[in-house]
Amino acid sequence: MTVELTALTKSYDIPGGEEIAVNGIDLEVGEDEFVSLVGPSGCGKSTTLRCIAGLETPTSGEIRINGEDVTDTAPNKRGLAMMFQDIALYPHMTVWENIAYPLKVRGVSEDDRHEEATAAAEVMRIADLLDKYPGELSGGQRQRCALARTIVYDPKAFLMDEPLSDLDAKLKVAVRKEIQRVHDRVERPTIYVTHDQAEALSMSDRVAVMNDGELMGIATPDEHYNFPANKFIASFIGNPSMNFVTGQLLSSSDREERSSSGSRAKPGDGTITVEFHDNEIELGATVNEPRSETVEIGFRPEVVDLHADPDEGYFEGTLELIERIGDRRLATIQGPDGEIRAMVPDSYTASEGTQVSVSFDERDAHVFDDGTKNVVGRGRTEGAEITAESSS
Ligand code: ADP
Ligand code: MG
Repeated sequence: MTVELTALTKSYDIPGGEEIAVNGIDLEVGEDEFVSLVGPSGCGKSTTLRCIAGLETPTSGEIRINGEDVTDTAPNKRGLAMMFQDIALYPHMTVWENIAYPLKVRGVSEDDRHEEATAAAEVMRIADLLDKYPGELSGGQRQRCALARTIVYDPKAFLMDEPLSDLDAKLKVAVRKEIQRVHDRVERPTIYVTHDQAEALSMSDRVAVMNDGELMGIATPDEHYNFPANKFIASFIGNPSMNFVTGQLLSSSDREERSSSGSRAKPGDGTITVEFHDNEIELGATVNEPRSETVEIGFRPEVVDLHADPDEGYFEGTLELIERIGDRRLATIQGPDGEIRAMVPDSYTASEGTQVSVSFDERDAHVFDDGTKNVVGRGRTEGAEITAESSS
């Protein structure tokens, strides 16, 4: 089973113009694959999912399930299971009747219904609740009941739209595990919508990052984290988020002979050199051909080092705050480029208000074109094959 979107576009007429909610998305979710759609609120995640489900009619583009074009197929004929934040359990039916309802619609006998519903309830660990009514269940139990119902339905694919957002943190983790167990067991494509990048990274085989109706890139969680294709993905994936400082691109030849109108680094050149705050930093890999002289260097708080000696870092700033975030400590520095965040060990003793200098491991740095916002260089070569989805 597969789900395939080709140039999917959905726009709405609104007073004074049109709202393009989804703008030309291409996406293929493979057999047994778990793919998250993640992005800020309003970026088009739900609209994309609702188009796949058949609850919205695309303005243009195609949707295929298992190779079959279902773009104009009625929702109930697509064979998809959906799960939303607002769980639509029938309040006047018991748990078992709710779970077995898709089978009843299909004309399955009561005995077989009971057997299948009980098996699904056991998978979801709610077998002891079969005779209760939805009103008697907790939020997590209701979600499990809804999941059990999707299992008996035996869908071609699962579509889930922020199904966990109403649950408290502990329950979230538990139901997340249940969803993954269901996915592993039924081996069907699952498309999971969330605004929470950490949730997307922890659950998915691949993560599709959206912004403003567009697909910014699709990759595995590790690829997004280590080799972000563009500045949007770099800043959206990872928490606390990546730092950026502005610099000027110099090629190796520029460095040797600055006065010449020399060409800038090209893909395959092997190194890319950036000048910022009177420093030159050389990175190991050119990924895409740069369009602008101005670039942004991205580096995560995890790779920042702070020094008391101003000469040890690339630039100086004021240590404004050190706060604990779970098992780690996060330092915030106000520097010439604005705020820089750094993870510091518990042994770090500098006090708030002091001047510190900032350096980072260049091997973990990324260089983004200031015009296209696509990655042009990296500290490591491993990611060289991962390029941006679109270069506008
Ligand atoms: P997300 O789920 O990522 O938060 P949505 O898919 O719900 O985003 O919405 C994407 C954009 O489309 C938003 O700007 C939203 O306001 C707009 N939108 C969604 N549905 C409609 C509609 N029925 N009419 C007009 N605009 C809509
Ligand atoms: Mg939504």
